[in-house]
Order: sequence, then structure tokens, then C-alpha cells
Amino acid sequence: MSGQQRWASYNGTILDEDDAKIHALSPAVKYASAVFEGCRAYWNPDQDQLLAFRLDDHVERLFDGMRILRFETDVTRETLTDWVLELLRRNGHRETAYFRILAFIDGKGDQGSRGPVSFIATSAPLGRGREFEAGFRLGVSSWVRVADRAMPPRVKCIANYHNGRLGILDAKEQGFDYPLFLTESGKVAETAGSCLFLIRKGQYFTPDATSDILESVTRDTAIRLLRDDGIDVVERSVDRTELYLAEEAFITGTHQEVCPVVAIDGLPLGSGAPGPLVRKLQQSYLDLVEGRAPDTNGWRRPVWT
Ligand code: PMP
Repeated sequence: MSGQQRWASYNGTILDEDDAKIHALSPAVKYASAVFEGCRAYWNPDQDQLLAFRLDDHVERLFDGMRILRFETDVTRETLTDWVLELLRRNGHRETAYFRILAFIDGKGDQGSRGPVSFIATSAPLGRGREFEAGFRLGVSSWVRVADRAMPPRVKCIANYHNGRLGILDAKEQGFDYPLFLTESGKVAETAGSCLFLIRKGQYFTPDATSDILESVTRDTAIRLLRDDGIDVVERSVDRTELYLAEEAFITGTHQEVCPVVAIDGLPLGSGAPGPLVRKLQQSYLDLVEGRAPDTNGWRRPVWT
């Protein structure tokens, strides 16, 4: 629906997305007092249906973020979910779409304000990047990942994204596609917008939830898809030098889905091309999110009722 008018939901009111504006004096703008979610809804042509993937888990993580940041709101998870579904219907997507839910401190308060909290949801079509086929070349960043003792890395607090932005700019200047961050103590954390998995000697492992990672929905989906397939995934702290010994690697995120990693710090992994184990997982992931595989966990929410 490119070129058409697109709508946003502002506290449940549908308006032109160009009118979904935030006041310059709000704590959201002055102090980045905001937290968000990035989600996908997949178009299934056979079912003539749009399928929002793990919407409840995204809403839950948004509420986790608001709790950590001490946002005070009477809006419930159910109400927010209804607003989001209404927006997706209103935008009439008949293609895969990415939608964002923003919770922020509105009004003109100070740095310690806990409210009023406002919510803006937006949505737009989103396809797949070329890295889905070709894979990413990652470079370990000279910036370290935001640490849990300074910021809340496990939720999508807007201010965290300065860390990712600095890493992205640095990685591009160094000739890499995307940065990979280490923690303050030198263990592997994640990229600027996705979590990392390594496969070495047939074993799958990924930095654990105390490695300053985001509690990624797609990471969890990948772990559960692999476990359903009889493959164990070890969640543990990961050393930098382990990166160079992996035969295959991949990153997971709502936006990037499951993407191969073909090189880290200039060292090719395996053959230097996406490997068969990653390709297999990509296919399982697509079958699940696009509505071809059984939805045993109730993760797909039909948008059109
Ligand atoms: N890490 C960061 C910093 C992210 O922004 C994202 C994308 N939201 C992820 C990891 C992946 O999280 P998810 O699978 O929930 O999209």
C-alpha cells in the first residue's frame, strides 16, 4: 500500500501517521523516557489472513520495560493489544508488515516523571533484506554493549539505541555490515538489533540472558524450534575467540528474522557462505511465522476476524 495514506493509533485514536506527533517538551523527547516494541505481522495468501507473530509476548515485554522504567499507566495489555489490532486492520495490510508500539512519558514533566504515559502504534510493509540470503559480515565493536548496571538492556528502552547506533556507524566505517558487541567484562553480547547463535562441532550455543542481551522474542522462537527438532541449545557466556571457531552462526530478531552470519572480524565461518544448518532453521522459521507449520504454541494471531 505504498503511496497510500497510512494510519497510526495514538492512545487508541486512529489518525494520519503524519499527525502522530510528540511534544518537544515531553520527557520522551527531553530525556528519552520511552520504550518500544518492534513486531511483525505476516501475510498468508492461502488463508487470506494477516498473522501477527507473538504479539502477546511483545506486549508483555513492553510492560516489563514500563515496569523497570517506573511508567505508571492504567492502560491494560488487552486494551493496548486491541488498539494495535485495530491499527493493522485500518492500514489494510495484504503483505507482511512491521509494526511498532511506543510507550512514552507525555506532558511537560521533568526527568523523574512517571506519567502521563501515552502509546503510539504505527505499521508499514516490510520485506526481507539481502542478508537473509547472503548473510552478515559482523565486526566486534569497539563500543561495548550497554550494561545492566547502567541501563536496562533486556528491554527496548529507546535510550539503549544510541549504543547500537554508534556501533553501526563504527562497523560501516570499518567495512563490516553490522556490529557485534561485547559486554563490559569482554564476553559476547549481541548485535545492534539481534541476538547471536554459534554452531561449533554440531553444538549450538548463544549468550545467556545475563550477558546484557535483549530478551529477544526471536531468540526464544529459534531455541524452541531447534529443541522441537531434538537439537539442544546451550545458553551460556561466550568468549570472543569462540566466534572465530564456529562453523556456522546466525542472528535472530523480529526485523532480521533468522539471518546467516558468514564472517566475523574478517574471518570467514565454515565455507564463508551460509551453511546448511542455518538454512534449515530459516525454513522452519518461515514456515512457522508465515502460517504453513502447525502453531502449537498459539503464537500466530489472525488480525482479520
Ligand atoms: N537486540 C536488540 C538490541 C534489538 O533491538 C532487537 C530487536 N528488537 C533484538 C535484539 C531482537 O529482539 P526480538 O527478537 O525480540 O525482535
